[in-house]
Amino acid sequence: SLAACSNGGDASGSGSGSGSGSSSGGSTGAQKVGIAMPTQSLERWNRDGSYLDEQFKSAGYETILTYSDNDINRQVNDIQNMIAEDVDLLVIAAIDGEALNTVMNEAGQAGIPVIAYDRLIMNDNASYYVSFDNYTVGTLQGQYIVDTLDLDNAAGPFNMEITAGDPADNNATYFYQGAVDVLQPYIDSGKLVVVSGQTDFDTVATAQWDSQTAMERAQNVLASYYADGTQVDVWLCSNDSTALGVSQAIQSDYAGSNQPIITGQDGDEANLKNLVDGLQSMTVYKAVANEAVVTLDLGKAILSGAAIDANLITDSGWEFDCSYDTESYNTSDGHNCPSFLLIPDVVTKDNMVEKLVDTGYYTQDADGYLH
Ligand code: BGC
Repeated sequence: SLAACSNGGDASGSGSGSGSGSSSGGSTGAQKVGIAMPTQSLERWNRDGSYLDEQFKSAGYETILTYSDNDINRQVNDIQNMIAEDVDLLVIAAIDGEALNTVMNEAGQAGIPVIAYDRLIMNDNASYYVSFDNYTVGTLQGQYIVDTLDLDNAAGPFNMEITAGDPADNNATYFYQGAVDVLQPYIDSGKLVVVSGQTDFDTVATAQWDSQTAMERAQNVLASYYADGTQVDVWLCSNDSTALGVSQAIQSDYAGSNQPIITGQDGDEANLKNLVDGLQSMTVYKAVANEAVVTLDLGKAILSGAAIDANLITDSGWEFDCSYDTESYNTSDGHNCPSFLLIPDVVTKDNMVEKLVDTGYYTQDADGYLH
């Protein structure tokens, strides 16, 4: 169901057309875009915020960019201020997908379209959703484990633990479910054993994706189930901030001598360093620079009244794969949020230069680390 819509067409669409249309009445007459990011404490949102801000500004829009320190009330407040500033468009990465109802309704009453950015907002005023294919992030993690342990051939059993994301983030269950769907047959056959027995999403979840929280739970699991020298072979982690906490626990509190397979997501610098140092095995990389470009293209179309369909992104002049999907992301009450979903990719120590340096996302220093 994922139709590729990459193209290498000309970039002329990117800079044109913006700033026209009905003015918000601001001093420059440019249309105004409010960009609400969750927090600066997790690396990726700094990148998202600055890419989005740059994209919209260079296309001629005024922008307001906020980070809300993972504080739900503060994010509501930040968005209310944007509405009061007469923004023409809101781009929101929600801290809590269920907690923005009031302010989303206010945006709806003010006629302000909302792009749910990366994380779905559970409100019917979410006009569109731009993200990566979140379920695929999980299946890539699961498949990496299957392939690396050669689960179809190896005798096993292998011991595994699971650390998932923030229950307030709609993405977290998609990541978890994607991975578990791939791994479940091997759990059922006994080839993978979750020694702690902790497999339910709520039990393995990590509030606010916090590294410290992930580390503390991992330390508890190690103390309770692995202190006798039982080997842990795999630790499925939904993203890099949780993987960071788990690898710290492995280094400080693990009695065994092997390095377990640890998965991640985002390509945060600290985790790319851990890939080089052998402390993490893979990360699912999501080129958030491209997520910002898709958001700009979509935002321009919304503000200019242009057609929004699967062909929208083909004007951008950027080469990447994404799909347009009107079905799979359900905000509530049967409202499916039309979604542009980019395709994530697996990055390991072996391909990181090709995937991240040659593409220009990162540079490599003399020690081999990426920045
Ligand atoms: C994003 C991930 C990120 C996580 C924690 C999720 O919504 O999709 O890329 O790792 O939030 O910030």
